[in-house]
This record gives sequence, structure tokens and C-alpha cells, in this order.
Amino acid sequence: MGFCFYFCLRWWRTWTTPFVERRRRLVEELVSLGFVRSSKVVRALLRVPRHLFVPPHLVDVAYDDRPLPIGHGQTISAPSVVARMTELLNPDVGHRVLEVGTGSGYQAAVIAEIVAPSDAPRESWGHVWSVERVPELAEQARRNLDAAGYGDRVTVVVGDGSRGLPEAAPFDRIIVTAAAPRVPEPLLEQLAPGGRLVAPVGSRYSQVLVVVDKLDDGRIVQRSDIEVLFVPLVGEYGFPGEEVGEEDYYPRSI
Ligand code: SAM
Repeated sequence: MGFCFYFCLRWWRTWTTPFVERRRRLVEELVSLGFVRSSKVVRALLRVPRHLFVPPHLVDVAYDDRPLPIGHGQTISAPSVVARMTELLNPDVGHRVLEVGTGSGYQAAVIAEIVAPSDAPRESWGHVWSVERVPELAEQARRNLDAAGYGDRVTVVVGDGSRGLPEAAPFDRIIVTAAAPRVPEPLLEQLAPGGRLVAPVGSRYSQVLVVVDKLDDGRIVQRSDIEVLFVPLVGEYGFPGEEVGEEDYYPRSI
């Protein structure tokens, strides 16, 4: 009886709270927990409607801080991880950014809102290129990005993102949103001098976020941040191409 009451109350509260208010509460929580500090990242998280990037049956939990399945054994990362990675990436207005692992398109939209702010003149806009290996996910991500109003600031490309995207290089920022055994060499080559790359690096079952800076003279400096757990980067510079089932990774991976 008490159990039923709790869930009815939770359901009622969720459905009577507008998305914008749920988003505001989530972002406040991420700030209070220290995942994010910079005002540009906070602003982007407040603007991008995460509920447009999750499957329709999960809209109800779009503003919980947890990863959610998006099909094909893949996930949209938890908001705290998106916040932390964006904070570490430190993108700026006008930047050219490469994302490896489009998934739902949500992380790409958050970065797009920073490099090409909705309220800034178009001449100042940067751009996000995002590579996804699963064609169906890439197509869904394009639809999500269009629905959320970021279709003109994010280009989704189908392919093996572990090789980067030489035709659009060099990039000011590169973000990898799947677990890599090491930082893929082509991505370091495609990073502009003064640029930064953020990626989860480690084994299939445990990684740390690494932040790699390419100095103006080409030297590489690397440091580590928090521990994370992502689905694997599969491809030439990722893990060998064994397919992974959703049941293997959800809900532990982000
Ligand atoms: N950034 C995404 C978002 O905001 O929803 C979440 C990414 S999900 C954790 C990881 C994604 O990386 C999956 O969609 C997966 O198909 C993709 N992926 C794995 N290996 C890849 C590769 N070599 N090239 C491109 N995408 C890859």
C-alpha cells in the first residue's frame, strides 16, 4: 500500500512539473554536487531539452541523473557526465568541435549551444561535427537535433569516428563519448595547436576521463579526471569489433 502510494505520488509530481522546471532542478543539483561550475556550461544545460533526445517511453525520467538506453545496445550518458565532460572540454564561441559517438545527439547539442549560442549572431557561430558508427542512431540523432533546433549547428556523419574526420580537421576541441583503450592517434593529429581533447580511456569495464592539451608548439600534455564507465569505442583505434548487447552495459554504463 505504502509502496503504491509512493509511486503514485512520484508519478503525479513528475507529470505536474513542467520540463523546464525539472531541468532547472537537475542543473542546480549538478552545480551543488560540483560536476559543473562555468556559467556557459550551466547556461547550455538549462537550454537544451534532454527530453527530446530520449526514446518517448523514457521522457518521464529524462531529467533524472542517469544514463538511458537509446537502442542498438547504446546509451545517452547521464547528465552529470555530460556536464563534467563539457566543463573539462571548455568549448568557446566559434570553435570547431569533433564528437566521436553521436548516440542520441544530446552531448553534441550541449556543445553546439556553447560554440554557436542561440542568441549570438550567426557570423560568430562555430560548428560541431559528430561521428556515429550505427546508421540508425545517426538518423535518429539528426531527427532529435532538428526537433531541438540544433540541426544547423551539428553535422552528423556515419562512420568510424576512431579515425576522426580528416575532411573537417583541424578541430579546436575533440570529445570522445565511448570508452577507448588509448587516445586514438588520428584524433591527436586532427587536434589544432592550442586545442583540447577529452576522452574516457581504460579497459572495457572501467575508465578515467583524460584531458589532453596540444600546446602551441605541438607538445602533448595529459591529465586525468573522474572515473567513468562508458560503452566501448569500436573501430580501427578502439576495441576489437565484438558487438555488445544492451543487457551487458545498461544501466551501469554511461
Ligand atoms: N554522446 C552520446 C549522447 O549524447 O547521447 C552518447 C554516446 S554513447 C555512450 C556511445 C556512442 O558511441 C554509441 O552511439 C556508439 O554507437 C558510438 N560508437 C562506438 N564506437 C564508435 C566509433 N568507432 N565511431 C563512431 N561512433 C562510435
